[in-house]
Amino acid sequence: MKRLSDIRHLVIDMDGVLYVGERPMPCLTEFIAFLRRQGIGHVLATNNSGLTPTQYAAKLAGMDADVSPDHILTSATATAEWLARQYRPATRVHVFGEDSLREAMTDAGFVLADEGVEVVVASIDWGVSYDKIKRAALLIRGGARFVATNLDPTRPTEEGLVPGTGAIVAAIAVAAGVTPVAIGKPEPAMFELAMARMGATPASTATLGDRIDTDMEGGARAGCATILVLSGSTTREEAEAYGPDFLFEDIVDLLRCWQRQV
Ligand SMILES: [Mg+2]
Repeated sequence: MKRLSDIRHLVIDMDGVLYVGERPMPCLTEFIAFLRRQGIGHVLATNNSGLTPTQYAAKLAGMDADVSPDHILTSATATAEWLARQYRPATRVHVFGEDSLREAMTDAGFVLADEGVEVVVASIDWGVSYDKIKRAALLIRGGARFVATNLDPTRPTEEGLVPGTGAIVAAIAVAAGVTPVAIGKPEPAMFELAMARMGATPASTATLGDRIDTDMEGGARAGCATILVLSGSTTREEAEAYGPDFLFEDIVDLLRCWQRQV
């Protein structure tokens, strides 16, 4: 894929791409409108499991960007969808995480339980405790499948890099002696679910993101073209050393270039 005009589907990261924290990129409204007008399928995919798709759609609506919750995949909803493809409805699942993850699991038809479960799903838990880690580890040692929404070791904040989902999941993994299956980026599962939702194939799809280790690596592993923007956590030096298929300052730069090709 050499030209932007060959791209028919996009898997788009949100933070650092469409907005930075609470600040939308200057052309966000126009960018989303351009994708819709050109019929370019898009799924917004984030490793963050703390908000539901409806909450993300509301955040974007507050930035004047019109995105349906159906076009948003969080690592929580992706994990629920992935599990729903292999487990029957009403399968008993233990959730180690926040309400948004519990909601994703019950929406997918699973029954939440603390014993007799087939699966332990783990993600960030702001109220992590010894007892919660113990419960999850014992269930896994008892034979439950161990699945993590993602394994991001840290999260960037104003205070610096703070523990992410992977740091917490690691405590359970060590205690249980089992490595979890992970769904979020850079695992291909997240991209495969996004493509399935768009009816897309890797040949027509690109990943658009600001991180090399998740957005670029994951997209590349799934066979997609890679579009890296410098509005988030990657420097130009790092970007050029990696060598994505397309490199832009930000979505303003990307949109300007894309509009010239259609
Ligand atoms: Mg990002």
